[in-house]
Amino acid sequence: MKVEIIKCLQDNYSYLLINETNQNACVVDPSESRPIIDLIEKKNINLKFILNTHHHYDHVGGNIELKKKYKSKIIGFKKDKDRIPEIDILVEDNETWVNEDFETKIFHIPGHTSGHICFYFPKYKMVFTGDTLFSLGCGRIFEGTYEQMFNSLNKIKNLPSDTKIYCGHEYTLKNSEFCLTYEKNNKSLEKKIFEIKEKLKKNIPTIPSTIEEELACNIFLRAKNLEDFSKLRDLKDNF
Ligand code: ZN
Ligand code: FE
Repeated sequence: MKVEIIKCLQDNYSYLLINETNQNACVVDPSESRPIIDLIEKKNINLKFILNTHHHYDHVGGNIELKKKYKSKIIGFKKDKDRIPEIDILVEDNETWVNEDFETKIFHIPGHTSGHICFYFPKYKMVFTGDTLFSLGCGRIFEGTYEQMFNSLNKIKNLPSDTKIYCGHEYTLKNSEFCLTYEKNNKSLEKKIFEIKEKLKKNIPTIPSTIEEELACNIFLRAKNLEDFSKLRDLKDNF
């Protein structure tokens, strides 16, 4: 399975998962259609499925056009069926969805939105976390409670430590400044910040991260309890 990282809009990432034996592919969170169509045409790809982590425009903006052009099927959370454009396949918490080599377990991870899900591909050790877990940060709480967000992050935290994390935005550098402000002597974080800066200098995404790295560096995953987490989330909102 090949993963292509596609920059969209200002700072969004969409991901194209390509089965290189037959060029069948899924796209995760197509923010807009153009950059995805460009890559599909260049590589002669069959876009079979569109996977949405949540209903926000910068994650579903390409749905309608891609579906029309490639007859792809759109997969999203059952309870968000009325706000994910053109949804076809409704999935639920803890369900495993399989098609050919695409096998993904769905986790319901509310907090950023009430219907947010992530897609975990155990065979390929990767998880697509949308706007719930970012590298060195987490999403803003728009529709849920602090407790929901805290529990959702805990679900992701418990995946195998070598799982690669593909999130919805390139916020890593800005997030790192917050982590460093509130955790000054974290050597792993210092090392990660150095690596992030090297990548960004070369215009390379800082994604994917890994569970192991986030456990060592991401202050939101390091919060001991709900109270600490909630305080950090408030501080970050005004950072
Ligand atoms: Zn969002
Ligand atoms: Fe977003």
